[in-house]
Amino acid sequence: MDTLEYFKAHLSAYLEELEAFVRLETPSRDLERLARAADWLEARFAPLGRLERLETPMGPILRLERPGGGRRVLLLAHYDTVHPVGAWPELWRVEGDRVYGPGVYDMKGGLLFILWALRYLEASGAPHPALEVLLTPDEEIGSPESRPVIEASARRADAVLVLEAPTGTGGLKVARKGVGIYTIRVHGKAAHQGVEPEKGVNAVVELAHQITRVMALQDLEQGTTIGPNLVRGGTASNVVAEYAEAVIDVRAWTEEEAGRVDRAIRALEPVLPGARLEVAGGINRPPMQGSRALFERARAIGARLGLVLEAGRVGGGSDGNFTAALGVPTLDGLGPFGADAHQRTEHIVASQVPARNALLAELVVSLLD
Ligand SMILES: [Zn+2]
Repeated sequence: MDTLEYFKAHLSAYLEELEAFVRLETPSRDLERLARAADWLEARFAPLGRLERLETPMGPILRLERPGGGRRVLLLAHYDTVHPVGAWPELWRVEGDRVYGPGVYDMKGGLLFILWALRYLEASGAPHPALEVLLTPDEEIGSPESRPVIEASARRADAVLVLEAPTGTGGLKVARKGVGIYTIRVHGKAAHQGVEPEKGVNAVVELAHQITRVMALQDLEQGTTIGPNLVRGGTASNVVAEYAEAVIDVRAWTEEEAGRVDRAIRALEPVLPGARLEVAGGINRPPMQGSRALFERARAIGARLGLVLEAGRVGGGSDGNFTAALGVPTLDGLGPFGADAHQRTEHIVASQVPARNALLAELVVSLLD
């Protein structure tokens, strides 16, 4: 069976199913909607292997086992999205070759690539490696519940394929930055700003000092970035601020850089006499060094399918960061081509779906040996 022809012939069926899936809006933490989407996914994946549903406080994790020969491959996708219910006036819109919808690109389109790759294996009878599929409900909030499940599955696997979107130019993702989230809480002392401000300790001023110190840890040449993107503090303009806090996003390409910033943030000392600091959080996703061998294999298959695939590096983390950190060969960015993840202009390019889906199917088959 010609792989590309199979996916071309099923493009409209894929899009119909994607529309139904996108219309089941699934913001992280919306347990009712996540459960409904899990039901929907269960019905479709169940005929393709042995399916197990693990209930977690963040929604169900679906795990599918499909026996095969030789090596063992883990396929990863999440079905939660960043889009709140009601954020999109129309949940599905087609404009020419572009298909818009919440999560269509990140990453419901990629998740359905797995479904159709399995259907292709079923239809073609092609021999393939033993497969495990994990569909998770909490990636967009850092995978608090899925992480241990993903890591346990990755330890059993010889290769991990992640169905997040490719880079903006369609490249596969062989490196991702590590991501840390820190909260710095400053406790000062309140006082009347007009009567006796000298008796207070201004937590906002202290926080400003700390933000300047943390920003000094940024090293753009190394790609280490610091984002104090959420701050709050104080109660009224005439009260010396008693409390202030900042949430800081840290990203780095290497463990060394992530560790350097982590240690420095934990070692912060107050500047103002009487101020007290608390630092919470840490490195949430370690930097991902993807597998060069998997990439080269994918690139060769892609070339036969008419795809020119480069090795991309991106700042955003994914569940691939966890599996690569365990030393399991990982390749990410195998989802559909499109743009604007996390935005209300998120879309995929329909005409490029068949080749990308065929790439996944052929890559899986190739991993038999
Ligand atoms: Zn995603």
